[in-house]
Amino acid sequence: MTQEEQKALFRRAMEASRRAYAPYSGFHVGAALLAEDGRIFTGVNVENASYPAGICAERSAGTAAVTQGCREFKALAVASPDGEASMCGICRQFFSEFSRDLAVIYGKDEEHLTARKLCELLPSDFVLPKA
Ligand SMILES: [Zn+2]
Repeated sequence: MTQEEQKALFRRAMEASRRAYAPYSGFHVGAALLAEDGRIFTGVNVENASYPAGICAERSAGTAAVTQGCREFKALAVASPDGEASMCGICRQFFSEFSRDLAVIYGKDEEHLTARKLCELLPSDFVLPKA
């Protein structure tokens, strides 16, 4: 993935962040998930008064993709106008189910992006023991 492609995906995540529902943290996050087939799914964090009921932007994008029958992913950008957003542990585990080689792109703005493979961010994922 070129730097320009990374920046473009990051911009899609930043655009999505405007629709985040974050009345409790004030931390508005958007995610843009690039599927292997070229489709892009976006997501935002959706908070709730019962905090654990909320969902991160990354999993929001992931569930939208899976709902549309898409399970193969190439890259995921995460962005926030409120500061650098990196991927939480639950989201790392969520995507490890689908792609250990997923490129995760994040940074404070598009001129300062970091791209890491998911397997670097989560070297040892949880798997159910085989019965
Ligand atoms: Zn998360």
